[in-house]
Amino acid sequence: SKVPPIILNNGVEMPQLGFGVWQVPDDEAESAVATALEAGYRSIDTAAIYGNEEGVGKAVATSGIRREDLFVTTKLWNSDQGYDSTLRAFDTSLEKLGLEYVDLYLIHWPLPSRGTFVETYKAFEKIYADGRAKAIGVSNFLPEHLETLIGATSVIPAVNQIELHPHLQQHAAREYHAEQGIHTEAWSPLGQGKGLLEVPAIVAIAQKHGRSPAQIVLRWHLQLGTIVIPKSVTPSRIKENIQVFDFSLDTEDMAAISALNEDRRIGPDPAAFDMV
Ligand code: NAD
Repeated sequence: SKVPPIILNNGVEMPQLGFGVWQVPDDEAESAVATALEAGYRSIDTAAIYGNEEGVGKAVATSGIRREDLFVTTKLWNSDQGYDSTLRAFDTSLEKLGLEYVDLYLIHWPLPSRGTFVETYKAFEKIYADGRAKAIGVSNFLPEHLETLIGATSVIPAVNQIELHPHLQQHAAREYHAEQGIHTEAWSPLGQGKGLLEVPAIVAIAQKHGRSPAQIVLRWHLQLGTIVIPKSVTPSRIKENIQVFDFSLDTEDMAAISALNEDRRIGPDPAAFDMV
């Protein structure tokens, strides 16, 4: 199943669905990513802090897939924010991945209390200008952080990767991103699988379409135009999560899922999170 691309604000194409590898140990990442690539995924979402860039890189290297057909995202960890430290951390990530460039490089968290995301992003602009990241962006930025960033730098972020699922629909953020030409990417698109996939409204829609609850939630995201990166290490689920391009939800299904918003986060509040 071929995943359709999203055209980012600099013309780069990014598959609308990719494979997330948070909490996948380095020695399991190679086989999980290999399974995903065999199933048809072409986009992989990792981060320096996940500790599995080497495993991801090995799977990419042995896949036989042409580099230009793959889309690799990694992220700068909080402790490396700052201009020079960002350039060093990026070199380390590229080396671990065994790549000449990444497709997308993201600032993992804004750390507003530290006040370093602007200088960090200026290093991102240098990396981008050098062609070592085909696109640059951010993660967990609130609209107020984006506003500061955009006012102080020249490359509008291509993507903001934020927690987003039916229980946390992020309407204000999505509206702001759309105004600025920033694509919204959902992390924990399945709400980490906990509870959300048992919600009666979602189970009912799944039964109606003869699909799994996970497939229904992923379809909801895709039909809203969001980029998704579901994670699994179970081969059957890895395959199931990409089998979502041969059916669609109707207006009523979409409305029933959109009615599930509770503005409830699973993860930290980006305004307060400052772990390094
Ligand atoms: P997710 O919403 O993708 O849920 C993954 C979990 O859901 C799995 O561990 C499994 O328990 C369950 N699951 C997956 N497929 C299923 C299926 N078909 N049927 C039933 N259960 C299923 O959660 P996630 O891993 O937190 O998020 C996805 C990716 O987003 C991560 O791997 C990572 O790449 C990224 N992420 C980024 C940040 C960030 O700060 N930028 C934070 C968290 C996650």
